[in-house]
Amino acid sequence: MSANRSLLIVEDDDLLRRALKEQLTAQGDFAVIDEAADGAQSLAAVKTGVYDIILLDIGLPDMNGRDVCLKMREAGVRSPIIILTAADSEDDTIAGLDAGANDYVTKPFRMAVLLARVRAHLRQHNQSDDAIFLVGPYKFQPAAKMLVIGDGQKKIRLTEKETAILKYLYRVGNKTVSRDTLLGEVWGYNAAVTTHTLETHIYRLRQKIEAEPSAARLLLTEPGGYRLSP
Ligand code: CA
Repeated sequence: MSANRSLLIVEDDDLLRRALKEQLTAQGDFAVIDEAADGAQSLAAVKTGVYDIILLDIGLPDMNGRDVCLKMREAGVRSPIIILTAADSEDDTIAGLDAGANDYVTKPFRMAVLLARVRAHLRQHNQSDDAIFLVGPYKFQPAAKMLVIGDGQKKIRLTEKETAILKYLYRVGNKTVSRDTLLGEVWGYNAAVTTHTLETHIYRLRQKIEAEPSAARLLLTEPGGYRLSP
């Protein structure tokens, strides 16, 4: 597993949160591990940060984890969310899954069990290439490098880079992504490409997907970067 992933731990128990961070850091799978001690902090974190996976305690001091999960999904968070529940709270578990969580782990849990779940969800999320995402009027099929309208009346073929750009913008939800971040994610952080290369690809992508490429409504230019309209 590549080590440039990011994770958010939402847990009000300071000892548990620190232990989780320590052990996950020791695994070396994550470049970023952020912490939130309550619901409000966690919602602020997902507003600015992009996480590959989120661990979410159900019993938080200011909000129920279920509502936090709902709000995260509403805010466009598409990464896997694993809820942490107490053994005697089956109702909370079900409510959490209903609210859009992908999985749950019951406290007290063994670290190895949690890690195995985290890895399984990251793998699954990565392989969701065969999935179909809705982008504006299109069905976006990353694995086929294709955008389809309706039942296939119109198909737009994308290059590998165009697919990667759209995939990343989709993944972060309704957020602006800086040119540098996009360059790093699509070309690799060590690649010697400039923002001009990225702009050229964005230009070509707009020619393909926008009704009026000069007045983009899907792939938007924002101060500081690009955003995919929801
Ligand atoms: Ca708690």
